[in-house]
Amino acid sequence: MTPIFANLQAVKARIDAAARTAGRAPAAVALLAVSKTWPAGCVAEAAAAGQRAFGENYVQEGCDKVDALAAQGLADLEWHFIGPLQSNKTRPVAERFHWVHSVDRLKIAQRLSEQRPAELPPLQVCVQVNISGEDSKSGCAPAEVAELCRAVAALPRLTLRGLMAIPAPAEDVTAQREPFRQLRQLLEQLQAAGLALDTLSMGMSHDIEAAVAEGATIVRVGTAIFGARDYAKEPA
Ligand SMILES: *Cc1c(COP(=O)(O)O)cnc(C)c1O
Repeated sequence: MTPIFANLQAVKARIDAAARTAGRAPAAVALLAVSKTWPAGCVAEAAAAGQRAFGENYVQEGCDKVDALAAQGLADLEWHFIGPLQSNKTRPVAERFHWVHSVDRLKIAQRLSEQRPAELPPLQVCVQVNISGEDSKSGCAPAEVAELCRAVAALPRLTLRGLMAIPAPAEDVTAQREPFRQLRQLLEQLQAAGLALDTLSMGMSHDIEAAVAEGATIVRVGTAIFGARDYAKEPA
């Protein structure tokens, strides 16, 4: 067994155990394999182990990888853009990706909607929330989420699916659960206000259990599948 194959099995076992502990169906939690900084060959290896959904953070690197895997005949993968997005770089993302988790302002959403090719299904999007209130982190302020979600949901070529967050690191599971609970409560408020949303994108390698306990429907896992990233080798 290659490490990627074994790591995928171990991550799925963590998700299953956390779901069962929470009284949730393991199938209700989707695994997004975050392949940023890893070459196309690692994605192909994970795909051979049955993984279909991959997350990328950087526009150039992500688009190159989508194209490289399609050229290798792996055209049925599902690509999620999860990194900060500048408004002058939305087009290649709108043309290639199935999901964008990191919509944090209306201008980005408008451009993605305008640039989504007519022959493709609507782009699936999440609004990213700055749940820990850190100045440096991207994401919409919690108080502005409802207004942004209403505007995004009205755009013709996007389907708003839910919320995403990257909380500040916390030591123990109890502390990790707090921001995830806040994100879930925000989603519940939006659902109560009439928005048809079904997605909570939350949880990474170090806090999968806390996120699943609070209702994550997509966990975004890189390190626990592919190993520690070497940012020195990261493409510009
Ligand atoms: C890198 C990244 C991840 C994966 O983080 P790991 O700790 O490697 O699992 C998840 N979500 C986002 C937005 C990321 O940038």
